[in-house]
Amino acid sequence: MITVKHLADFLEQFAPAALAEDWDNVGLLVGDPDRPVRRLMTCLTITPSSAAEAIDRGADLIVAHHPLPFHPLKRLTTETTAGRLLLDLIAARIAIYSPHTAFDSARQGINQRLAEGLELQEISPLVPGDEDLGAGRHGRLAEPVALGELVDRVKGFLRIDRLQCVGDLQRTVQTVAVACGAAGEFLDAARQTQCDCMVIGETRFHTCLEAEAAGMALLLPGHFASERFAVECLAKILAQQYTAVEVWPSGRERDPVGFA
Ligand SMILES: [Zn+2]
Repeated sequence: MITVKHLADFLEQFAPAALAEDWDNVGLLVGDPDRPVRRLMTCLTITPSSAAEAIDRGADLIVAHHPLPFHPLKRLTTETTAGRLLLDLIAARIAIYSPHTAFDSARQGINQRLAEGLELQEISPLVPGDEDLGAGRHGRLAEPVALGELVDRVKGFLRIDRLQCVGDLQRTVQTVAVACGAAGEFLDAARQTQCDCMVIGETRFHTCLEAEAAGMALLLPGHFASERFAVECLAKILAQQYTAVEVWPSGRERDPVGFA
């Protein structure tokens, strides 16, 4: 019998909590480690849609990239969205595990996959940590390319039609930094490593201005797109590891940000 603890131990090995940022809340967040797991759903975020899917399909465990709960709770009632989601999932005896920034930084984590997906070479952490790991990644393209070509590569890898861009599409780029999610804080690190382009999920207007002033191109595919692909990869890894468990990536979660 596969239990919540088996999965939690595997995930801890895959994305060690020691790699998580100090402010983060990762690991087994809800549930009984001794409960069996027959069905497991991965998702980027626990929302009313993804939670309903987990309940409808009888999941025993949700591996959600973003933590729920994230902020410390002093009460758990149906008066907040987080409270409603947690109460519904607890009533359905569904456990929650979140790898979050540990998964961002892991050896086979989101940023490594992003760097490999863009065909970067000599990949190393943008912010070095213990051993050879750390947060974000940077590397070099085999040949300098026009920014427009890198845009197409990002769109192709993340399966999106459009992204936000700071910088002239004709300029050439070769050294590239990547960081998934809301990652404007990595701009200084990318500047220090002399990157001429940075691919991050999303950031603020003023960070875009800073990048422009520093002569660095910035590609913003969106928070959802920069991380959702990795939730699908994680479902495949878990399905291979635990053949007796039915594993699927949420089919109902969507990017809440659209274009009008
Ligand atoms: Zn995120």
